[in-house]
Parts: sequence; structure tokens; C-alpha cells
Amino acid sequence: MRYEGPIYRPPSEADSLLIQATIGCPHNRCTFCMVYKNGPRYRVRPVNDIKEDMLEARSVYGLHVRTLFLPAGNTIAMKTEDLAEICRSARATFPSLERITVYGSSQFIHKKGPRQLEQLARAGLGRIHVGLESGDDVILKHIRKGTHAEQQIEAGRWTMAAGIELSLYVILGIGGHDRTREHAEETARVINEIAPDLVRLRTFVPKINTPLLKEVMEGRFKMLTPHGVLREAASLLERLTISTMLTSDHYTNYINLCGRLPHDKPGLLSEISHALERDESEFRPFFIGTE
Ligand code: SF4
Repeated sequence: MRYEGPIYRPPSEADSLLIQATIGCPHNRCTFCMVYKNGPRYRVRPVNDIKEDMLEARSVYGLHVRTLFLPAGNTIAMKTEDLAEICRSARATFPSLERITVYGSSQFIHKKGPRQLEQLARAGLGRIHVGLESGDDVILKHIRKGTHAEQQIEAGRWTMAAGIELSLYVILGIGGHDRTREHAEETARVINEIAPDLVRLRTFVPKINTPLLKEVMEGRFKMLTPHGVLREAASLLERLTISTMLTSDHYTNYINLCGRLPHDKPGLLSEISHALERDESEFRPFFIGTE
């Protein structure tokens, strides 16, 4: 198998076979993200090379691969017919395959529209991890996410309607001190409108060589303290009215929250209340992310 550039995958894909279909990110402008800032530039690998890698993986791991993740930012952006061909080929190569997953930002999902999403679902694409980050348009513009709340809602609904599982990522603290209220309110509104299968919480950590770190260092972006982040998490959680799985499976978070909503909501809120009783000095210190 051949890999190029940084290879990222969500924690939930830790046991998955990783086959690279695209390299880099076609957007590459988010001000908090350092992943592809030093390249490589976005490109799509030839379908035949990807198929060759899958055959090689079969010779190494056998027929019993159960989950496949196609790493790199926004593999959903590649041509629908080519991605569908890769999904069909993966299902044929690994007959026990239960799930094929990609990363995809809302603007690229939106470009596909409902029909192409259905085509991908039929071909076997099973899940998309989407960096929603926030539902607040001011924040989305500030972090140069390249999308807006209404587009994220439409893209999310189309994904769900096509029968593809949707995993949405929220970054706590990404609006800083100034927009924590709007971040919680608008993000909850957008999530409620989409009703995704999964919501995953991360906490903003400024990354090296990013515009947002520069803003932090120059005092133009005031980061939330640990208690501020926890209060924001509670405010978001209180507003979620849908049935979904919520998890915070990431090293950036101050506490680990995991449960099914709405059933586990009171328990999760109580966990946050308990955490708020701890002194802020007990939580992990500020650090600059390097990967
Ligand atoms: S879309 Fe994802 S990979 Fe691309 S720049 Fe934004 S956060 Fe980074």
C-alpha cells in the first residue's frame, strides 16, 4: 500500500484498513487546521492504483477486513463515479466489509446533491465524518470553513436521507470567549435540524503555524478557560433535542462525555456539573498542538 502526506483518521477508525484515495485537502483554508498547510497539494489518485492497493491489502490481511477508511481531508470531493467504483471494488475485494468511511466537508457534500449521495450509498459508502465545527455563521466565516449553517444543514439532511451514516464534529471553544453563547446556541440548532447519527466533541487547541494561533498569541482571540469550555458543552447539550449518540473521544477534551441522547442527557449534564466543581488548575494546561 502506498501513502503520501499526513495520514489522519478518526479514533473510531483505529481498527480499519486505510487505503488512500485522495491526497491533501481541496479546501485547505481553515484557520485552525495545520494538517496540509505544508502540502501536499490536493489530488486524486488513479482508480487503478487504489484498486491495486486494495489487492495488496487483501494479500496481507486476508479476506476478513470489516471496515475501510479512505484517509485524507475531503475524499468525498473526488468524482462521484470514481468513488462509487472504489466502493464497489472494495466490497468485491473484501466480502466481509461492513463499512466504508470518508471525511467530507459540507460544501463538498452539498455539491454532490441528493442523487449522487444516493449513488454513493448504493455503491457501499457507509459513513461520512463531517467537520461541522460550529453552526454559527460568524464563526464559520472567521475560521474560513468555506461553508455556512444552512448549507451544512442541507448537506447533512441529504446524507442522512441517502442512508449514509453521518458523524458530525464540533469544536468546543472555536468561537472563543466572544462567541461562546452563539456557538452553543447555533451549533445546537444546526445539529437539531440535521439529527445526525453521531456527534463528536473536540476542544479547540491552537495548532502550530496556523492563523488562529497567531490571533491567540496577539490577544485577538480570547480562548475559553477549562470551565468556559465545560459551560459551553453544557449549554450545547441542554439544547440538543434529538436522538443521537454523543461522544468526546479525543485527547483535546477536558472530560470524556459519552452517551445516547436524550436518555443519557441528565447524567452527562451532571458529569459536567461535577467537573465544574474542580479547580481549573486541575485540568490539562494550555498547549500548542504540533500534529
Ligand atoms: S477542510 Fe478539514 S482538512 Fe481541509 S483545511 Fe479544513 S479542517 Fe483542514
